[in-house]
Order: sequence, then structure tokens, then C-alpha cells
Amino acid sequence: MRKNIIAGNWKMNLTPSESKGLVNMLKDACEAAKCDVVFCVPYVDIDTVTKELEGCKNIAVGAQNLHFEDHGAYTGEVSADMLKEMGVKYVIIGHSERRQYFGETDETVNKKIKMALRKGLIPILCVGETLQMKDDGITIDHISIQIKRAFRGVDSEDVDRVIIAYEPIWAIGTGRTASAYQAEEVCAGIRAIIGDIYGDEIAENIRILYGGSMNSENCEELMAMPDIDGGLIGGASLKNDFNLIVNSVRE
Ligand code: PEP
Repeated sequence: MRKNIIAGNWKMNLTPSESKGLVNMLKDACEAAKCDVVFCVPYVDIDTVTKELEGCKNIAVGAQNLHFEDHGAYTGEVSADMLKEMGVKYVIIGHSERRQYFGETDETVNKKIKMALRKGLIPILCVGETLQMKDDGITIDHISIQIKRAFRGVDSEDVDRVIIAYEPIWAIGTGRTASAYQAEEVCAGIRAIIGDIYGDEIAENIRILYGGSMNSENCEELMAMPDIDGGLIGGASLKNDFNLIVNSVRE
């Protein structure tokens, strides 16, 4: 069966020295959790966080982006090999903030997914609709396009290594959460889209997360839904709330 996973997205928060404090506040609860736990940290914190987590089997380190080429003249970018050598296991790809502010497109998302898979990193692919799309009733059409483009050319044997995070843009950092039923409807829709492309077995195996103002108060209801296999947590991953979230996850 699918193992639940809770991933924290620290975004552009915490210097290396500040990151130590947070890791030490979260480490024990995350280590004891009945789900996989990932800290997706700023590049500059990777070394410190990895060292602080030495010996912790249940917690992995993730990055928040990578470049789609192996190496070259891409000033300011970071490659998959660089991340691997730093001990990174997961990488967020196509977060809405990167799509909105940094020119991430479905095409670059696709290249990044393929690069991450080729290098043995686990991609956390983010998809989601704007408020306008939701109001226009085109959520699943939009997400279907994002998924089809993200997986273009991805071999079926690699697909269930990808984790998909459904993140309605209107719920990110706004305190507005999709209701558990709304989130379940879309996550089940995402599973059906994967099923149409790759077949039922792969669709059953792939892990789908919800993200968007998830916190210790709403996580249990969201996680109780059959097609939601965990959460991608932004704001609440920077405080004790994260401990409560991981503790609330059942096997
Ligand atoms: C995110 O950035 O992926 C996210 C879900 O943020 P928040 O939990 O703050 O809405």
C-alpha cells in the first residue's frame, strides 16, 4: 500500500544557523512518525540540515528546485548531481511560486522531472488551479494539461517514483484550505488522469499529496481521504505545528 508522506516546504526562510534550531525542534517527532518525512530546505541549508539529521532514518532532505541540464553556463542554477552529492533525496518541481515568479513552464517542469528521475531524485510535482479557474469550473481540465505535459516522455516504470502535490493556488499561504471533500475530488481526479495515461496499477501506486494552508487543525480530515497520501506543508512546516501534523498521521 502507499506510505503516507509529509513534506515541509521551508521556502526562502531560515539561514543555516537558524535551520539548526528548527531541525532540533522537529527531529524527535518526525523520527517517530508513521509516515515518511521530508524537509525541503533552501540550497544553502542543505549541508547543515543533512548533518543535523545524521542517524535519523525517517527524515530525508529535499530541495525546492533544480536545473534541467547536467551542467553548463547557467549562472545561479543548481544541478541534480550537485544536489545528490549533498545528500538530497527529493526535489520539489513546478511549485506555483516558481511558475508565477520565475518563469517555470510546463515544458521546463517536464525537463526537470526527467532529469530528477534520471539522477535518482524523487520529484514532488506541484499542480493546481487559480481561483479564477476554480470559479470557471475548469480545475480538472487545467490539472490534466499540467500532468500530461509534466509526464510527456516519462517511462511507465519511472512514474510511480514521482509524488504529485495538488496545491490549489488560492489556498497557498492564504489560510484558505480546500475542504477535505474538494481536495479528495481533485486528488481522485489526478489518480484517474494517471490511470488513463499509465494504467490502473501505476495510478494505485502513485502518491498524491494535498498542499495549501494545511495545519495541525485540518490535517486529520484531509489525510483521512482515500486519495490523499500526505501533505506538502509551507507555513506550518516552520513551527511546532509540523510536529503535530506528522504525529497525527496513521499508518
Ligand atoms: C506550499 O508552499 O507548498 C504550501 C502549501 O504553503 P502553505 O502551507 O503555507 O499554504
